[in-house]
Amino acid sequence: MWGVSTIETATFGPARAWLGFRARDMTHQASSSSALVVAPHPDDETLGCGATIARKTALGHRVRVVIVTDGRRSHASLVIPAAELATRRKCEVIEACAALGVPQGDVVWLGHEDQRAAEHRAEIAESLTTLAAEMDAEEVYSPSPVDRNADHRAIGEAVRGLVRERNLRCAVYEYPIWFWTLRTWAGPGRVTGLSLARAGLGPARAALAAGVRLVRTDEFISRKHDALARHASQMMNLTGEADWETLAPSFLRSFFGPHELFFAVNEPNGERHG
Ligand SMILES: [Zn+2]
Repeated sequence: MWGVSTIETATFGPARAWLGFRARDMTHQASSSSALVVAPHPDDETLGCGATIARKTALGHRVRVVIVTDGRRSHASLVIPAAELATRRKCEVIEACAALGVPQGDVVWLGHEDQRAAEHRAEIAESLTTLAAEMDAEEVYSPSPVDRNADHRAIGEAVRGLVRERNLRCAVYEYPIWFWTLRTWAGPGRVTGLSLARAGLGPARAALAAGVRLVRTDEFISRKHDALARHASQMMNLTGEADWETLAPSFLRSFFGPHELFFAVNEPNGERHG
């Protein structure tokens, strides 16, 4: 019987390569634009867009990172209470953003409770509108609602709503995170041959439905590695508890290739790509 990580490697490796083949390279545009990066939880900014953020800041473009929820529910620990975990994760994301060239003043912590983003959707949408307008952001990077995580979905849909209502007129791209796990496509049941087939079909369908874009990681990949290491609570077992999960290598592989992948939601200046 294959393990889930083996299946993920076998499925998502070719899926990533295929999406990369179909994607339009927007590295040039990303190298010359400011951005507001919207992260549902601390670490999404690094996983989804770390190298793109590092590229922008290295070239002198402002990046503001908004962390929407406090990440207190990533682990249920008897040693570290949820509120303390949230405090740790706030420190971790400030350090991670520093590694990507984003100063602390540009890391905005909205502090909504983890897994409750949907209950605050209007408030979150208003905060994001203000934050993007204040810095006159040329691009917004937002989580993909395709990710079957309630916070990612709620926040991604809130941003799509802002685009539809024309409250956000700049370029908007979505980045996939939980997209790269079998569970997103196979659903909550047992992993079977059928779920394996779905795991391959899901990314293919999502890619066909959206314009796929890529930003090359180039030399910025090392800063992305540095940033991810700062998310210690996600990378190491802090308490020794048996159920303290860390991000699996088979999952992380999706984020450390030759490019970061995005789905285009709004491209007011489409001619700038290429
Ligand atoms: Zn997340």
